[in-house]
Amino acid sequence: MTLISGPQVAEKVLAECQRDIAALKARGVTPGLAVVLVGDDPASRAYVRSKDKKCRDLGLHSVKLELPATTTQQELMDVVAKLNADPAIHGILVQSPPPKHIDEAAIVRAIDPAKDVDGFHPVNVAKLALEDPTGFVPCTPLGCQRLLMDAGIETKGAHAVVIGRSMIVGKPMAMLLMAKGPGGDATVTVAHSRTRDLGAITREADIIIAAIGRPHFLKAEHVKEGAVVIDVGINRVEDPGSEKGYKLVGDVAFDEVAPKCRAITPVPGGVGPMTIAMLMANTVKACQQSLP
Ligand code: NAD
Repeated sequence: MTLISGPQVAEKVLAECQRDIAALKARGVTPGLAVVLVGDDPASRAYVRSKDKKCRDLGLHSVKLELPATTTQQELMDVVAKLNADPAIHGILVQSPPPKHIDEAAIVRAIDPAKDVDGFHPVNVAKLALEDPTGFVPCTPLGCQRLLMDAGIETKGAHAVVIGRSMIVGKPMAMLLMAKGPGGDATVTVAHSRTRDLGAITREADIIIAAIGRPHFLKAEHVKEGAVVIDVGINRVEDPGSEKGYKLVGDVAFDEVAPKCRAITPVPGGVGPMTIAMLMANTVKACQQSLP
């Protein structure tokens, strides 16, 4: 069984970014990422802080905008419009979820698709479906694909089962795996909360991507011998023995599933670090594509 290491592959992606950033700087351009946080959700604040830190570590231009929870839709639209017009900013990300009074879909549509490094704008969703390489693909599924490729997992002709149909993970993951070319060419089944007899489907899978949001949902009985399992889930479960009182676990019952697998990602230490690495890679790509 191979343990696929997210931190190791993320380091490689970041090293590639560093090389590209140096080349861009030599041409007089520094890629810039703006991360906008509305409100004070502690988890979102932590995500935004780590994105800002990663940018700075890499020598990217980083703008972190922390707006009060009372920010109106119009005020947020104005912030996005300003960032769209700012030539020093190549990537814009509005941290999800915003407060309830904000229409998140309208904000996403207001972001210039050329700066939409989250890949959530309808233009980028369409480009993924069209297999247009100039589009931006959501960072988490892009990171999962990279993990598979780096681990030498052949996706061509494989039966891949994606569990989850969200716009952030499941759907783009399925599109990446079915696209033509390296890291794609798979036969893809998408399962979700209305799927009948999930186990019968997952037991047929060569590759399983679990993006469900339920702790330890995927059990050994769901997985065939020699399968490859990518665990996207990040779930908080009580852990009275720990300092924080909780720990993070994946969607996969790792201890019982891992022995059956050819390769598997742990949680933590799997997909998590890839998401931020791919965000950096998308920002570098946005900058490269902005040049004449
Ligand atoms: P979501 O809640 O939007 O989607 C969950 C999906 O799981 C849904 O499509 C639903 O149909 C499916 N589902 C729910 N119950 C099911 C069941 N019983 N059987 C089959 N399918 C079922 O969540 P999401 O945003 O796609 O995130 C999924 C998980 O991935 C969460 O744990 C989230 O925290 C994690 N996540 C991790 C990263 C990362 O960087 N590693 C990034 C994004 C999301």
